[in-house]
Amino acid sequence: MFEQTEKKLINKKIRPTAMRHLVLEVLMKTPYALSLSDIEEKLDTADKSTIFRTLKIFEEKKIVHSIDDGSGSLKYALCHANCEIHHNDFHVHFVCERCERTFCLEQITIPKVSLPKNFIGNTANMIIKGKCPNCNTTTD
Ligand SMILES: [Zn+2]
Ligand SMILES: [Zn+2]
Ligand SMILES: [Zn+2]
Repeated sequence: MFEQTEKKLINKKIRPTAMRHLVLEVLMKTPYALSLSDIEEKLDTADKSTIFRTLKIFEEKKIVHSIDDGSGSLKYALCHANCEIHHNDFHVHFVCERCERTFCLEQITIPKVSLPKNFIGNTANMIIKGKCPNCNTTTD
């Protein structure tokens, strides 16, 4: 894991500190988006403000994108490879109503909406709520 995180950090011209390695590792290992508190829980040695600063740098350098899933706390997930120039994360996010996890559906782009005259769109956010594959398999 260390080699993978090191490579990603250096590729994005981020100085690889111990904290940056840790936060990136957590994000790479988790198949769903994480809030600041989720990450803090997983890294018991780190305080929130340090993690927050790390995430902001990652967001600026296009390693992660943040997701407003309506839960009240921003979630963070890894960007995919084509985020090099500007964040290209106009994909749908899925919120599981059962386990409350937020997933990136990278293969599904947010459909283009035609806006009324004089409205200029800047960002778009699309959340689909339901049951994730994990929760879908259980019968209860
Ligand atoms: Zn991105
Ligand atoms: Zn679920
Ligand atoms: Zn996403």
